Amino acid sequence: MTYREFRARLESGESTCSDMVERCLRQIESRADLNCFLEIFEERARRRAAEEDAKVRKGEFGKLSGMVIAIKDNICLKGERVSASSKILEGFESLFSATAVERLEAEGAIIIGRTNCDEFAMGSSNENSAYGEVQNPHDPSRVPGGSSGGSAAAVAAGLCHVALGSDTGGSIRQPASFCGVVGVKPTYGRVSRSGLIAYGSSFDQIGPLANNLDDAAICLEVMAGKDEKDNTSSHTEVRGYGNFRESEEKPKRIAYLKEYLESEGLDPEIKTFMLEQIQKLKDLGHVVEEVSFPYLDYMVPTYYVLTTAEASSNLARYDGVHFGYRSDQSSDLESTYIKSRSEGFGPEVKRRIMLGTFVLSSGYYDAYYSRGQKVRRLIKDRTQEIFKNYDFILTPSTPKTAFKIGDEEHAKDVTVMYLEDIFTVHANLAGNPAISIPLGNHSNGMPFGVQIMSPVFDEQGMFKAAHLMNSIND
Ligand code: GLN
Repeated sequence: MTYREFRARLESGESTCSDMVERCLRQIESRADLNCFLEIFEERARRRAAEEDAKVRKGEFGKLSGMVIAIKDNICLKGERVSASSKILEGFESLFSATAVERLEAEGAIIIGRTNCDEFAMGSSNENSAYGEVQNPHDPSRVPGGSSGGSAAAVAAGLCHVALGSDTGGSIRQPASFCGVVGVKPTYGRVSRSGLIAYGSSFDQIGPLANNLDDAAICLEVMAGKDEKDNTSSHTEVRGYGNFRESEEKPKRIAYLKEYLESEGLDPEIKTFMLEQIQKLKDLGHVVEEVSFPYLDYMVPTYYVLTTAEASSNLARYDGVHFGYRSDQSSDLESTYIKSRSEGFGPEVKRRIMLGTFVLSSGYYDAYYSRGQKVRRLIKDRTQEIFKNYDFILTPSTPKTAFKIGDEEHAKDVTVMYLEDIFTVHANLAGNPAISIPLGNHSNGMPFGVQIMSPVFDEQGMFKAAHLMNSIND
């Protein structure tokens, strides 16, 4: 299901936005078993489709007329509920729409519903949701990845054209890899975070998951750009991202990272696949070189020190007074805070709040938080140095394919789960854009992605690189 195909039919009058929405609603209902959606905005979507059809009849097309989009349950849509898959936001309704969503709707997109995710976007398997796990459409016994698991599964199952996710350490790219779809984490500051429920504010970005590069590129192009409501959004000009097919004769300079390919957790089949990709690129005359990146072992620890610190502060606002859930066991202000938070948050979120509070506490601040910041700086500097010599960096998206729901190893040891993000946290720590494209098929029947990391604000080059990788695998 690609938007391009639908668009042609819409323009020729063979199809309508209402047809498209009805088709998606039927599909969503028929795949209720996947548990991708927490809520379907049925009436709203039908109304929006009728509005868009009226415009189409007058010949007024937006860039995304009739594109059906699902949004992760941590992105706000005015007047609709949003919960970050947490009990603590039970019953809460958004007071305004995220800027990214407003921009999509202004170009004619139709929001179909909100998708399941790990609670407050903390997780790599979607098993941390207060509303149940999501099944991977390629194998129902496996996880879809996380935290944007519902979004990835919805796109992979053909329930919508595009789904939005958020990526703090890999939450778009890792589920994209597990579900065999495209997932994009833009440069930090490329897309406004206004209306995104905050997890790690200096890491978070909204981005698209899609079945193909075209749909992802055009959505990102529409969402990107300066927004007065988010001071960290960038003024840097948004170039056209959809023109990635325009051929470039010049051979590319591509880096692959030694420590990544040698990392002990990497599945041998994924490694072999990466080496084949490198060889193919070389055969075509591209310059592909091994570069050392000695900070691999520090990535995940640095990420967890800094993001939990930010999370502990961001999540302080859920106090049982301002938003959503309030414990009925409370008797005064203090017990309202304690009981509402104890009952409202799930175990992983509590773990991170405690960890974050600890690393920020006066006795340990220098030992953990400030050190984490310094390591982040080293990672950033070294990464930007690589981009002085190379057009992009090629890595696996994930060390393995999707694991089983309830997998004991992951449940027993939280660091096993944290290491799922070993290759994706890099782009969030450094701020660079990165994309996962579904190129690999494992002998276990599961897809896996290849990741391209590009210079900051070079999303255009990133899509071209992704197109190049697609074309050498045709
Ligand atoms: N899986 C990572 C985590 O648990 C990344 C989450 C994200 O990107 N939101 O934090």
